[in-house]
Amino acid sequence: MSSSFDSGKGTGKADEAVRVQTADSTCNGAAALTGKDSSRRQFLQLTVGSTLVGAATVAGMELAGARPLLAQSNLSPDAALQELMDGNRRFISGRLTSFEEDLTILKQKTIDKQEPFASVLACADSRVPVELLFDQSIGHVFVTRVAGNVVTPEIIASLEYGAAVLGTEVILVMGHANCGAVKATIQAKEVPGQISALYPHIQPAVDQAGPDLEATTKANAKIQAALLRQASTVIAGMLKEKKLKVVAGYYDIGTGVVTILG
Ligand SMILES: [Zn+2]
Repeated sequence: MSSSFDSGKGTGKADEAVRVQTADSTCNGAAALTGKDSSRRQFLQLTVGSTLVGAATVAGMELAGARPLLAQSNLSPDAALQELMDGNRRFISGRLTSFEEDLTILKQKTIDKQEPFASVLACADSRVPVELLFDQSIGHVFVTRVAGNVVTPEIIASLEYGAAVLGTEVILVMGHANCGAVKATIQAKEVPGQISALYPHIQPAVDQAGPDLEATTKANAKIQAALLRQASTVIAGMLKEKKLKVVAGYYDIGTGVVTILG
């Protein structure tokens, strides 16, 4: 099966134009990278106001000799993952801040470009609303979803685009509790149409950790993440340069908690 992923070659040429570095004209934006809730607004101001900040960049840098501040697309892989996890904490505690963002402004600012900081490969399951459970709004997360969160050439292509062209710093491959695709694969259920096309992708996890559903789902997330690291030359290259991180995770649909599996 792995041979089907060998086509994951690509030019991998990052569009440097979208990785715009901006300066912090107020000199307090460094706090935006600390991952604290209180820094959330500053973080978003940077994001939403990137055009404005970008316009002020030249003057700001020359005037104050200010340290250039990293824009959203220049978060470190660890900081990008932390941003996701902070959002999940807000989701769990019911203190969502993404709804405070001005969606009209956000939509206007993202018509011509996008600078998501993270990519997520999740299941198509309706109980896994990715942006919501990470408390993220428009333009922040590049999401691919397919039943069983399996890695296919099309998924690789999408995530390569997210990382190499749009500049996402982390890719989270996330399984979830009570996943029907994993359950059906464990049971080798007779299913209509082409649903069983998912089985071969998930079978290695069943072989490794089945028949326990949670263990198999976690194993599947790790296997798919490993596949992504290995099958894509673009992603492998970015990992080597430490521009990107690929991690596996597990979403508990009962508690709302996302756990990083490594
Ligand atoms: Zn699922």
